[in-house]
Amino acid sequence: SADKPSNFLRQIIERDLAQGTYANRRFAGHPADAAGHAAGQPDPARIRTRFPPEPNGYLHIGHAKSICLNFGLAQDFGGICHLRFDDTNPEKEDQEYVDAILDAVRWLGFDWNVGGVSHLFYASDYFNFMYRCACALIEDDLAYVDEQSADDMRRNRGTLTEPGVESPWRARSPQENLRRFEEMRAGQHPEGSMVLRAKIDMASPNINLRDPAIYRIRFAHHHRTGDQWCIYPMYTFAHPIEDAMECISHSICTLEFEDQRPFYDWLLDHLVRLGLVASPRPHQYEFARLNLTYVVTSKRKLAQLVAERHVDGWDDPRMPTLVGLRRRGYTPESLRLFTDRIGVSKADSWIDYSVLEQALRDDLDARAPRAMAVLDPLRLELTNWAEVFGSADHAEPCSAPVHPAHPEMGRRSFDLTSQVWIEREDFMEVPPKGYHRLTPGSMARLKYGYVIRCTGCEKDAEGRVVKVLAELLPDTKSGTPGADTVKVKGVITWVSASRGVAAQVRLFDRLFTDAHPDVGGRDFLSVLNPQSKQTVQTYVEPAAAAAPAGASFQFERHGYFVADRVDHAVGAPVFNRTTTLKDSWGK
Ligand code: ATP
Ligand code: MG
Ligand code: MG
Repeated sequence: SADKPSNFLRQIIERDLAQGTYANRRFAGHPADAAGHAAGQPDPARIRTRFPPEPNGYLHIGHAKSICLNFGLAQDFGGICHLRFDDTNPEKEDQEYVDAILDAVRWLGFDWNVGGVSHLFYASDYFNFMYRCACALIEDDLAYVDEQSADDMRRNRGTLTEPGVESPWRARSPQENLRRFEEMRAGQHPEGSMVLRAKIDMASPNINLRDPAIYRIRFAHHHRTGDQWCIYPMYTFAHPIEDAMECISHSICTLEFEDQRPFYDWLLDHLVRLGLVASPRPHQYEFARLNLTYVVTSKRKLAQLVAERHVDGWDDPRMPTLVGLRRRGYTPESLRLFTDRIGVSKADSWIDYSVLEQALRDDLDARAPRAMAVLDPLRLELTNWAEVFGSADHAEPCSAPVHPAHPEMGRRSFDLTSQVWIEREDFMEVPPKGYHRLTPGSMARLKYGYVIRCTGCEKDAEGRVVKVLAELLPDTKSGTPGADTVKVKGVITWVSASRGVAAQVRLFDRLFTDAHPDVGGRDFLSVLNPQSKQTVQTYVEPAAAAAPAGASFQFERHGYFVADRVDHAVGAPVFNRTTTLKDSWGK
């Protein structure tokens, strides 16, 4: 942990550890504590953080920052990070999302099982306790049932410059409020007819403290608690209580919650005073969310892209979701490297998409096997093949290192045959100056193979080149003593026409044409890039075609590719380009 660069959150934790702020925490022994801590048991963790997604969509790259941050801080400081589903909003949540989130956190390399104990929690398990807390606030005259219409309530909240107006229901007695609240719970009042509000200060300069709603009526089926409840706590009320119940020490969230912190403190201080929450209680700290250029990171907008079929699903390789990035070929290591590099701060900023791509390159360069692939195939025939090798069908074995810097990864073999695929751009009938590849009369090396001399080409009726003709120079094979006798400047990649394997390759461009697709109220759909996906028919080296789905390669010259997790099959290979070899995004 000492080698990690410091940041304001690490400094806060270091200060709390030095001062022993959380040294004497004891569990309350609540029945909803899924980790089963007994009442009075001292907390063995030095700190506790949590990652609290709402299961209403798939996680995206912004969530990866939060996951790496919260799990990373716990790891570095001898703490425990909880994975908690903040499932207090029944309409939008679903088990499908719960499963996908569990998968994503595990895939990123983090584990909520610590010392054989699961630290997986569901806020919905705390509904009973939250209800108790609400009743205790009512009894203490700190909450009341408001029967104003939603419009009146909004109007009476005031503005930044005008104080709010107190509700006519604000002065009701605790007994009357308790009775009303019990009726709400019993389903005796329709949705929208009343809410429970905290009684704080309608004149507060912080609008969040002007008697915020803490419970509302919803006759909605919950994916875990079913129809047990028809009142649900508001996020701002539920979240501090969830933190407190789990003995969280550092509750880290994004900057938009800064204005909610006074309520977080108000609520927990009262619950401590009322004996419902143990002291020392958790504290909230805010950091700047991740904003990545050319990307939208709002679940609502991502859901819209999926629903309106602008992409092929949540796991479309162009999506910034973790399932999308995974399918695109991003590795967990590269995403962790990315979040380490961008760090955390208290000021909002934009991170260039190229930073994410560079993290992928830096991860894969060191370990991805190399292979040859021809993305824009043009046939080349070696016209003296039978003469040199005695048979037109001869296949000449060639080999290359799996990784040039790692001999221990072994070698790969592939055959050179009389006909091969080369890139269309590697032949030019009338070349520009300085062109070192194939042109009638020029020589170049077929990489890991022989030097060849181009003798001409064949064209179709439209004048398009359909075949390049060349002669092989015997005794120039790479890796043999004669390899250097003929010096050439150009080296071209190729795949045997008869031994190479046809593969579908998907080439992606940015999903949006503007770096800030949803800034300033712009309709992000208006800047969708109509050419963000291109599918090409290619040929790849047999070793790559035989790879399992999910395997990453560097296709020489072309970048990093992954065998598609869904569509790739041995015999019918499908690759996604994760990124090019060099930054092509520009500045
Ligand atoms: P969205 O606004 O896309 O719906 P959310 O913030 O509502 O996302 P949650 O499931 O509530 O989604 O988020 C879980 C955690 O991830 C929260 O603590 C939130 O602060 C954090 N988070 C979400 N988006 C980002 C982001 N872009 N950068 C950093 N952290 C994020
Ligand atoms: Mg949220
Ligand atoms: Mg949000």
